[in-house]
Amino acid sequence: MAKVKLPQLIDPTKSAMKRSTYVGVYASDLMERLNSAVEASGEWISVDVKFEKDAQSLTYFHGNANAEVELLCQRCNKAYSDSIAVEFTFSPVQGEDEEAALPSAYEPVEVNDHGEVDLLQLVEDELILSLPIVALHAEEDCNVGPDDMTFGKIEPEQERKNPFEVLKELKRD
Ligand SMILES: [Zn+2]
Repeated sequence: MAKVKLPQLIDPTKSAMKRSTYVGVYASDLMERLNSAVEASGEWISVDVKFEKDAQSLTYFHGNANAEVELLCQRCNKAYSDSIAVEFTFSPVQGEDEEAALPSAYEPVEVNDHGEVDLLQLVEDELILSLPIVALHAEEDCNVGPDDMTFGKIEPEQERKNPFEVLKELKRD
């Protein structure tokens, strides 16, 4: 089946009036920040998103995205494959007043001057936030086992500060 490439900018209000569902992909090449956070990523990021209005007639959109990535194990320093799955629920807002009035079930997303949201960037942010802070193999797959006495015991670098922690903290406010 041919892959449907999703538009990057979407007007959520119009899409919600039509109760649109978008099922398709983004090329991972377009996600530079994600690519710089992982060793490698699969060619396509799959996305499934539905635009709706709730009982209060608020526009919202929710869905999920999946990415195949290669991460570098912090214990044995070898790359391994992982899939990252995220779910999200956003509601478009314009200005701080609308953002303050938004029910907490929704994550606010600021629209641009044309009333559009950058769905690609939203998905990319969610994927980056879902990456493990310390990437590690499953213990049985790791090339440095707990009984590997030849090289001594190597602890994961617990103190390693993930640059995206900062982003995560910003999002919580
Ligand atoms: Zn490992």
